[in-house]
Amino acid sequence: MTTTGFIYDERFLDHNAGRQVYQGEQAHADCGEEFDSPLRLVHTKRLLDALNVTARLAPLDFVAASDEQLLRVHSADYLASLTTRCAAAGDDTIQLGDDARGNHATERTARLAAGAACAAVDAVLQGQVDNVYALIRPSGHHSGRDFAMGYCYYNNAAVAARHAQAMHGLERVAIIDWDVHHGNGTQSLLYSDPSVLFVSLHEEDNYPLEGGSADEAGEGAGLGYTLNLPLPAGTGNQGYLAAFDEIVLPALRQYRPQLILISAGQDANAYDPLGRMRLTRDGYTALAARLKTLAEQVCEGRLVALQEGGYSLPYLPIATLGVIEGLSGQVSDFVDPHHFPARTIAPQERAALDELRRSHAQYWPTLAE
Ligand SMILES: [Zn+2]
Repeated sequence: MTTTGFIYDERFLDHNAGRQVYQGEQAHADCGEEFDSPLRLVHTKRLLDALNVTARLAPLDFVAASDEQLLRVHSADYLASLTTRCAAAGDDTIQLGDDARGNHATERTARLAAGAACAAVDAVLQGQVDNVYALIRPSGHHSGRDFAMGYCYYNNAAVAARHAQAMHGLERVAIIDWDVHHGNGTQSLLYSDPSVLFVSLHEEDNYPLEGGSADEAGEGAGLGYTLNLPLPAGTGNQGYLAAFDEIVLPALRQYRPQLILISAGQDANAYDPLGRMRLTRDGYTALAARLKTLAEQVCEGRLVALQEGGYSLPYLPIATLGVIEGLSGQVSDFVDPHHFPARTIAPQERAALDELRRSHAQYWPTLAE
């Protein structure tokens, strides 16, 4: 039986991005609380507790990431500036990067999230658990070497990958980023490095508007090891599963990672305010189960899911429940109250997948077969 570890801590709620206020020359508008609300995690944990799911997971301890762990990814100047600016914020929320506001607790909270990601890696590589769901905040995948962006401050997935390499001697790590937004920060950190395969499935023409196309495939020794899969708006369970079965899983089998990290942003769900995709709880269960099976085939089941985005307060908990069900192999008796019409792959999704497979086959011959 699979043992799935779980990380959660109320200190992840301390980071606060404040309210969305648009200030123009002649007018301003207060549009309410930022999408990255602490309630995203509160509601998710509450559903897991109510269904008795948390009790079936193995709680894992962690500490805040050290400077050494963060400096494998970020610059010393950036760490110092983030720390200083948050300390000076007082009771206010301040701008720390594009679409990245924060408060006095943001650096400390981001450091906890990155530390949790490293602890999750330790737990699977030391055999303490088979896989992990880390319900952490803030997210990481838009953050680069010296910038915060898009609700992200430290790049949790990249820090975890580097930790696995530095402390456990791994030569090949894969990051599967299924957040609806392109993982531009992660890509920028790993673009010339063949020792981490970065796969991003995201909605085309969503945030950030620049980047994430299939022809961004890496550079130098890393050419081919960035695998972008921009998908048309409206892609649902069938389209995502086809992308997995036809492209992601064959590439992973060829790469043979020793550890798989998931940048698990569940904002491609059908109710997310910041995405236009149609994944459901069942879709997330199936995607996670596919990766669990593949991990068992190629890397002794070593799989770590790190929370990224997901902004529908009612549906993020249900989508995340689906991921945990896929990782643990235990499906709860919770019935999703939302009804989704049965769909097949739309012609534009089929065409996009065929084009993506052809494009990536130049680096991954298995995709040409
Ligand atoms: Zn996102």
